Amino acid sequence: MRILVTGGAGFIGSFLCESLLDEGHEVICLDNLFSGFRRNIQPFRTNPSFEFIRHDVVEPILLEVDQIYNLACPASPVHYQYNPVKTVKTNVMGTINMLGMAKRVKARILQASTSEVYGDPQVHPQPEEYWGHVNPVGARSCYDEGKRVAETLMMDYHRQNAVDIRIARIFNTYGPRMSIDDGRVVSNLIVQALRGEPMTVYGDGSQTRSFCYISDLVRGLRMLMDQEGVHRPVNLGNPVEVSILSFAERVREQTGTGSQIRFEPLPSDDPVRRRPDIAQARKLFDWEPEVELKKGLRLTVDYFDDLLRK
Ligand code: NAD
Ligand code: UDP
Repeated sequence: MRILVTGGAGFIGSFLCESLLDEGHEVICLDNLFSGFRRNIQPFRTNPSFEFIRHDVVEPILLEVDQIYNLACPASPVHYQYNPVKTVKTNVMGTINMLGMAKRVKARILQASTSEVYGDPQVHPQPEEYWGHVNPVGARSCYDEGKRVAETLMMDYHRQNAVDIRIARIFNTYGPRMSIDDGRVVSNLIVQALRGEPMTVYGDGSQTRSFCYISDLVRGLRMLMDQEGVHRPVNLGNPVEVSILSFAERVREQTGTGSQIRFEPLPSDDPVRRRPDIAQARKLFDWEPEVELKKGLRLTVDYFDDLLRK
């Protein structure tokens, strides 16, 4: 198949491109390089089945493809809050453009949605039926509400135009190729620990997240895309929940750092807890994360260690 990956030069997108190429597909990677990097796609840049197009999804584009993975959108709060209006445009106009293409060429399209659609959840763990608890006017709203509109657009193009859609609600994902200054907790704490700098924990660190290793997530995205007839949103994440403070302790163990923890103010609307209910993914396509946090963290620490030594 010929497959379009928007946001393909980003963290998740680059692993997805690689996995699709490994299976013998032709891959078109479309990215404006806002939070992605050429170095992420360097390993397969010379593969004749791979093509890179520098383009912004907010602008229309004509391509003939069989499948579209729509991942274009900065994922780190630091990046998506840098230009919040652009984040909304990317999620709304970008998704409309990709859905228009899917409709025209009859391609199946998967939208990378997020656990952020649940906001600061009052139901725990979060099943797909939960409608969420989102601040529509806060610092995170450009992303949370942007992704919620993207989901709405997907469902409406499906109901109105019979577009063959998939919606993946991705929970916190980590691994190699996250950028050093990405601003997310995994890269921040590992890089700080390796540099011997204080590890910044926001708030008292009692807030929780559930971290999914990149290979598990990519496998889940592909299984969802290739499953017939699943048009409703599906959670993809690792259900093992940890507090941010205990995550910092794990980073300390894995890096052997002498870094202390420095507590900093909690950003506004920071969700208190987050953990996916993955019963749907298990039932629909037998997906289960396999990489434990200890192993995934080891691989990620080794990646950043190499990078910092270069
Ligand atoms: P990332 O920032 O590394 O990658 C996003 C990519 O999209 C970058 O390469 C960026 O340059 C590109 N991009 C941004 N705006 C664009 C635009 N207007 N036009 C074209 N390209 C654009 O982030 P990631 O972690 O790889 O996330 C990928 C997708 O998965 C995003 O849609 C994100 O919302 C979603 N997601 C990620 C996580 C996570 O934990 N990583 C969790 C939930 C959802
Ligand atoms: N966080 C932290 N230190 C950092 C970066 C983030 O304590 O250096 C916290 C952040 O406040 C949040 C959690 O870690 O509670 C996860 O943050 P991240 O930005 O990785 O993802 P998200 O908030 O979108 O889940």
